[in-house]
Amino acid sequence: MKLTVHLFFIALCLLPLELISEDLKQNKINFPDNSTAIIYVDDIKHENYFNIVNKNISSIYSVLSKFFKPSKPLTTEFIILDSQKFQTQTGLANWINAIYHKERIFIPVKEHKEFDEDKLLRSIKHEYAHAFINNETKGKAPYFFDEGLAVWLEGELHPSFKLLLASYIKKHKSGVRLIKNNVSFAKLPSKEAKAAYAYSRFFIGEIIKQFGIFEINKFIKKINNCDKFSACFNEHFKTTFSEFSTKLDEKLLVWAKKELR
Ligand SMILES: [Zn+2]
Repeated sequence: MKLTVHLFFIALCLLPLELISEDLKQNKINFPDNSTAIIYVDDIKHENYFNIVNKNISSIYSVLSKFFKPSKPLTTEFIILDSQKFQTQTGLANWINAIYHKERIFIPVKEHKEFDEDKLLRSIKHEYAHAFINNETKGKAPYFFDEGLAVWLEGELHPSFKLLLASYIKKHKSGVRLIKNNVSFAKLPSKEAKAAYAYSRFFIGEIIKQFGIFEINKFIKKINNCDKFSACFNEHFKTTFSEFSTKLDEKLLVWAKKELR
């Protein structure tokens, strides 16, 4: 079943866009560094999504490119399409807000849901961050690192995610086990997945707090050539992955107690 889903998804991603809809509206935006964003919408009734993405994409690009300082231009396609169509063609769940795959960001639109501009912009920032990470690391960043960065760049962490992480830490006395084995969070039970996103965000936040944005940026650019992530981490930050995560767990235990008070 999983393989079928995956194959369907790959099939959709390779489809010429005209086959997703005969009536695509599009707009291409060129950024000063030669990166481009092309925004597609499958139906006029989703135009409000198209307009919001169109209006905000340059400022989102600017924030992300300041953080990542891309070593080569990005070409990213944003595809706004009906959630039913998205679900039928990919086999993926229709609760997904947006998803990044191979230089494309799919934004499924749910008919019955109220339009939420803030949520849409957070999703765009999150998925666009994945595009930037992939541009630098060629997909070699561990899952938690990729997600942690995307969540950190998205903005404030949702209180419910914080609470779930605090409960998890209180129970297990550690958060690092959430990110063990480089397993996709989508495969974890929902509460654990949310705690894993939160932990990954804290992990990235702690790196930035201790070493600064300049150092994490330098490190991101090294990941592509890393045989072993933990060895590169150790070499770059002069601390082992295990020392760093143990100290983070100690801090999070204190934080979790306060959070749950
Ligand atoms: Zn993500």
